[in-house]
Amino acid sequence: MHQMTLAEIARGLADKKFSSEELTKNLLARIAQLDPQLNSFITLTEDLALQQAKAADARRANGETGALLGAPIAHKDLFCTLGIRTSCGSKMLDNFKAPYDATVVAKLAAAGAVTLGKTNMDEFAMGSANESSYYGPVKNPWNLEHVPGGSSGGSAAAVAARLLPAATGTDTGGSIRQPAALTNLTGLKPTYGRVSRWGMIAYASSLDQGGPLARTAEDCAILLQGMAGFDPQDSTSIDEPVPDYSASLNGSLQGLRIGVPKEYFGAGLDPRIADLIMASVEALKKLGAVVKEISLPNMQHAIPAYYVIAPAEASSNLSRFDGVRFGHRCENPKDLIDLYKRSRGEGFGPEVQRRIMVGAYALSAGYYDAYYLKAQKIRRLIKNDFMAAFNEVDIILGPTTPNPAWKLGAKNSDPVAAYLEDVYTITANLAGLPGLSMPAGFVDGLPVGVQLLAPYFQEGRLLNVAHQYQLNTDWHTRTPTGF
Ligand code: GLN
Repeated sequence: MHQMTLAEIARGLADKKFSSEELTKNLLARIAQLDPQLNSFITLTEDLALQQAKAADARRANGETGALLGAPIAHKDLFCTLGIRTSCGSKMLDNFKAPYDATVVAKLAAAGAVTLGKTNMDEFAMGSANESSYYGPVKNPWNLEHVPGGSSGGSAAAVAARLLPAATGTDTGGSIRQPAALTNLTGLKPTYGRVSRWGMIAYASSLDQGGPLARTAEDCAILLQGMAGFDPQDSTSIDEPVPDYSASLNGSLQGLRIGVPKEYFGAGLDPRIADLIMASVEALKKLGAVVKEISLPNMQHAIPAYYVIAPAEASSNLSRFDGVRFGHRCENPKDLIDLYKRSRGEGFGPEVQRRIMVGAYALSAGYYDAYYLKAQKIRRLIKNDFMAAFNEVDIILGPTTPNPAWKLGAKNSDPVAAYLEDVYTITANLAGLPGLSMPAGFVDGLPVGVQLLAPYFQEGRLLNVAHQYQLNTDWHTRTPTGF
C-alpha cells in the first residue's frame, strides 16, 4: 500500500479497492515502525488522521469525488494547525498550539486530505540540511549517515521513505527543491503569491512560499491544486485564477525552448552532477525540446544578496518571539530586559541567533544603505536577467544543487559552506519565479535533482515538462533500500 502515489491512491479509493481508514492505519503503523530511524516527524496526529479518514470515506460513500479525498499527507511544522503543536522546529515554540489552521491546512482538509502529522524541519526554516532542528536532525533514507536537505527535510525524508505519498513544504531559498533533489523527489516552489502564506510562520516574508513535495510531477499537480489560490487574508496573495494542473501534464514538448545558463556550470559544481544534467537535457531533446545556451550574468551576486535580505526579514519577523506575546519564557526573570534576553537566548538555537544578528546589523542605521539597499538592487538585477532570458526560452534548466547530500555534521563548523549549496535555488525566490526539482540520477548511491524554472504563474508548464520526462525515465521510481 505504501508504494502508491497520490494518483494511484485516488484511483484505488474511487474503485473501492481499500478505504482511507485502512490506508491511514497502514501508513501510521509504517511510520511507527520506520520513522525512529529517520526522525522525520515532530508530531503525529493519529486521532485527527483517523477521524479525517473516516469522514473522507463517508463523503465518498455519499458520492463525493476528488483526488485528495481520503489522501494521507503531512504538513511541515510551520503551517499552523488548530490545537496541534506548531513548533517551527524550535524550542521557542515547543509548547505552541496554534489557535487556527493555516489557509493551506484548511484548504487541504476541506478537499478531504488526511493529516498524519507535522514534519521535522530546520529551526524557523533556516538551513539546507535539517540539522538545526530543536528535535534533532533528520536522516536521509538513501543513506542514514547523510542529510536529507532542508529546511523541509522531514517532509522529504518521509515521502522518500514511503511513509506517506506527499507532504507540504515551504521554500524561502530552496527548501522544497533542495531536499527534493537530495532524496529523489519532485518538489515545486510556486510563483510568489500563488499559495497563501496565512498561517505559515514567517521566515523571510518576501521570499517564503509553500508548495508540494511528492514522488512524481503528477502528484505535485494534485497537491498544488489543493494548496493554490487567492486568499484575502494574505496581502501578498495574487488574485489569478488557478488552472487545472493535472490537465496541463500531457502537453507535447515539441518545440519547447529550454535555456541552459552558462553560469551554472562553473567551478563548484560536481562534474558527475553536470553529466547527469546534460543527460536530462538529451532526454528532453528526444521529446522535441530545443536547447539554447543563455546567460544569467548577475547570478554570482545571488548568495550575498540573499544572505542579507533573508536574515534582515527574519530579524524583523522573529522579534515577536519575546517570551511575552509568544514563545518560550525563561524562569524567574529579574526584569523585562532579563526576560527578553534569556527567553530569546534559551529559545533560539545558534543558527537562528546568527541570522537575527546579521539581519539586525544589515538593517541598522548607517549600514542599511550599504547592505540591505544594495542587496535589494541586486535582487532587481537578478529578476531582470530572468525576464531577459524568458524572452528567448520557455524554461530554464540546470542542477538543483552543486553536490549530492553531505554527511551529517560535515558543514556544522562552517555555515558559509552550507550557504553556498543554495546557489542554484535562491535566485528563483529573489525573483519570485516558480521552480521545480525532479530526479535526474544518482552519484555514489545518492540522488541528484535537475531544476526547471519558468515565467510567473507557469507552474503548469513545469509540471508538464517534468511529467513528460518522468514518462520517459525511471529515476523517480527508485526506492531507497530498507524502505
Ligand atoms: N537554505 C536557505 C536558508 O537557509 C533556504 C531555506 C529555506 O528555503 N527555507 O535560508
